[in-house]
Amino acid sequence: MKDRGQYLTALERFSRAAIGHLPTPVEAMPNLGQELGLSLFVKRDDCTGIGFGGNKVRQLEYYLGAAQDVQADVLLITGAVQSNFVRTAAAMGCKLGMRCHIQLEERVPKISDLHRTNGNVLLDRLLGATLHSYPDGEDETGADAAIRRIADSLRDAGQRPYVIPLGADSEPLGALGYVRAAVEVLPQIEAIGGVDEIVVASGSALTHAGLLLGLRLAGDTTPVRGVCVRRNATLQTLRVIQRIADTANLLGVDGQVVAPQDVSVTDAALGPGYGQMTADTRAAIERTARTEGLFLDPVYTGKVMAGLIKLAEADALCGRRVLFWHTGGQPALFGYSDQF
Ligand SMILES: *Cc1c(COP(=O)(O)O)cnc(C)c1O
Repeated sequence: MKDRGQYLTALERFSRAAIGHLPTPVEAMPNLGQELGLSLFVKRDDCTGIGFGGNKVRQLEYYLGAAQDVQADVLLITGAVQSNFVRTAAAMGCKLGMRCHIQLEERVPKISDLHRTNGNVLLDRLLGATLHSYPDGEDETGADAAIRRIADSLRDAGQRPYVIPLGADSEPLGALGYVRAAVEVLPQIEAIGGVDEIVVASGSALTHAGLLLGLRLAGDTTPVRGVCVRRNATLQTLRVIQRIADTANLLGVDGQVVAPQDVSVTDAALGPGYGQMTADTRAAIERTARTEGLFLDPVYTGKVMAGLIKLAEADALCGRRVLFWHTGGQPALFGYSDQF
């Protein structure tokens, strides 16, 4: 593969705050797998270590590396009320000596008091983050502009802010964490005798895009199926394709290694929308806990497993070897406990 060495060298050029507990394990899920008629494995990215872990640790290693490069002393980040990203940013910031301002967006309709105070919000407070609120959850550009205004006022007050940019038009530094994760998982996949498919959540798409690009740059052709958690399949496919192009561009490698038809997503488990629990999601969370002793979360991985179960029941995965990518998020369970 002509890109092989080149992209790894390119990856090394980016600063990285290497504080995640990596590599994470790959484990078998024999009980649930048997019930579903497939060989099921899990990549435990819920075990990335810091601040209850999850996929954001891999992404934030790169954002915090960039923040350290500019000697930032305060991080700013925007997200949903029960965002795992903001909680993880605050935790990693604490570890690296940076304070954190969090803007919480009203992304989920009709939420309870519990949702506003428990789960990730409780952890944000324990971490000493300053919380701000933003009234609209589907206005990425507006939320980014608002957080930049807070950054400006901190700068005026003599602080050195670093805004962790998450909008669709921002530099996809976080996806680099998943290009690296692809390098990490390949020998693990080989050690379990190969898999036919990887199933992963697809939200901002940095995880999905980074992983898919990383596998293809390494010359691996394992199919990656994204399960939509925020937008329908049509919009999400465009988002993933765009983020792959942006990530390839950032790395200075050829994004054509991923063909557009190689981007596969399903919105069968999306339900009414982001952060809204469905009966299928609840059932998937309970079933995974009761067969494997493994906790999923209500916003992302519960929906991914619900989607995987639907595919298995439709015989689309029959007898196959499937790697379920656990991206973490379990603290949100406590913000949704009134729905179980
Ligand atoms: C953010 C998040 C995702 C989605 O990852 P993206 O890179 O935004 O697509 C999946 N699972 C959990 C637990 C998350 O917190």
